[in-house]
Amino acid sequence: MRKVAAAIRRVTSIVQKEIAAGGRTTQIDAEDVVQILLAVADHLDPPFGGPVDEADACPHCGERESDNLVWQDDESVRCAKCGKDYRPAG
Ligand SMILES: [Zn+2]
Repeated sequence: MRKVAAAIRRVTSIVQKEIAAGGRTTQIDAEDVVQILLAVADHLDPPFGGPVDEADACPHCGERESDNLVWQDDESVRCAKCGKDYRPAG
């Protein structure tokens, strides 16, 4: 629980600094929520899978980090960054 709280505080601090620097507005939308949740997950469990080949990247947003590309039961892949399901080339 302590680790979760520390990760949330760290991500909150990063978002606050981005708002102060003008890089992020105080308005929040669904994409902001997804980015923040993924940032907390990355702090708790840093990605280690590395990038997939360019041909297997998410066709919607270009995500290549394998930990953010999750195999589904129907052999498709769901991109955790943008929510798009697709079938990788390889
Ligand atoms: Zn994507």
